[in-house]
Amino acid sequence: MHEKLSSIYDNVLRRNPGETEFHQAVREVLESIGPVLGKHPEYAESKIIERICEPERQIIFRVPWADDRGEVQINRGFRVEFNGALGPYKGGLRFHPSVYLGIVKFLGFEQIFKNSLTGLPIGGGKGGSDFDPKGRSDREVMRFCQSFMTELYRHIGEYTDVPAGDIGVGGREIGYLFGQYKRITNRYESGVITGKGLAYGGAQVRTEATGYGCAFFVDEMLKARGTSFDGRRVTVSGSGNVAVYTIEKIEQLGGRVVACSDSSGYVLDEKGIDLDLLKQIKQVERGRLNVYAERRGHNATFVAGRNVWEVPCEVAMPSATQNEITGRDAAVMVGNGCIAVGEGANMPTTPEGIKVFLEAGVAFGPGKAANAGGVATSALEMQQNASRDSWTFEFSEHRLEEIMRDIHDRCLQTADEYGMPGDYVAGANIDGFRRVADAMLALGLI
Ligand code: NDP
Repeated sequence: MHEKLSSIYDNVLRRNPGETEFHQAVREVLESIGPVLGKHPEYAESKIIERICEPERQIIFRVPWADDRGEVQINRGFRVEFNGALGPYKGGLRFHPSVYLGIVKFLGFEQIFKNSLTGLPIGGGKGGSDFDPKGRSDREVMRFCQSFMTELYRHIGEYTDVPAGDIGVGGREIGYLFGQYKRITNRYESGVITGKGLAYGGAQVRTEATGYGCAFFVDEMLKARGTSFDGRRVTVSGSGNVAVYTIEKIEQLGGRVVACSDSSGYVLDEKGIDLDLLKQIKQVERGRLNVYAERRGHNATFVAGRNVWEVPCEVAMPSATQNEITGRDAAVMVGNGCIAVGEGANMPTTPEGIKVFLEAGVAFGPGKAANAGGVATSALEMQQNASRDSWTFEFSEHRLEEIMRDIHDRCLQTADEYGMPGDYVAGANIDGFRRVADAMLALGLI
């Protein structure tokens, strides 16, 4: 790492003790942007990097609610408004027991550069809670969401901060959150949250956008190397929102997805994942993955407690959570013939894993570029809400595809410009950083 950046990084470690995921996300960006400082001394003079590593605002709050037995439960809520240079803070809410400030800050930090890469006017933020929706009734989830929004509402707004979904926050939760916001404020302010249902201000393709976008991105990486998804053997981790629509688009593009997972293990289905069955179990019944193998019969096996990356694949689409591909996993994948990786999840590959992929010449699409289709389509939802318009599925998907191809091309061009051809990690970090840095310079010391 560049000497000046190394001392900034040491300061980040000292000022944010114990937040290991945040440290990892900062380190990855700082390791890429050294060459930019050589070309732009004005960034260092204005301490742009020190400022970018410090959130503009961090909100932590108590979320009390009563479960179905009448017992009082207390969770912790977070919203980190990281950087508003490009537009209102924008980023999802995660409900998962592992959530703490360090996770929210890593996600918010990544979000700044991802949102910048989309080219759309959105700043970076993220939030969530250590609440676990798994095993909770709809009424419990509703009471939790209402209590969460009873505090959050005063911090958000269509021109201020616009949350959306993430792990554990899908259409059901967004509906309850928006309903409570509307009740408290007495405003039908559709642009305050994205990922809404189509019946009340949602946008076509938002549900599918992250997965579809990631598949488009990898399709572009493959094309840049003169190949395609056609007939390729693909594995996907997770079986939530991102995973399901990644599988759907890859199947449409001619790939064969043979495995996906959840936190209990993975299913291997050599004939290709049956999406209707997967959606029924995961989206309708909110069930576990072993049920997929039971109903699919002899075609599929469920492997409990094991890691999906042991299944040989040509293309891997990590779509579950952070740090799910270690250096050792990456080495196994490369040994099995993996030629491309598209990060649907945020930071799913450890730094050691990324190193293995890059050294082996694997086409590696980092999350802040490859999964930017979700937030880009959220910005399109805000655009439709502001103009009281709604676009067709075909038009919205076409816009998404254009945005993903544009992000892909800019990452490649920027990597070339800085003498690192084919390095999408450097391309994404540098291109995302430059736009935010220029906006921060223009806005003065605020
Ligand atoms: P969902 O909650 O819909 O699905 C998450 C999936 O990942 C589930 O199958 C879940 O299994 C699995 N999973 C989650 N945590 C773990 C864990 N600790 N260990 C093993 N498996 C785990 O979330 P999304 O699909 O929305 O999000 C997935 C990833 O994509 C996250 O990294 C998110 O930040 C990222 N992302 C999401 C976007 C979106 O639009 N939704 C946009 C951009 C990025 P189980 O049910 O068993 O917990």
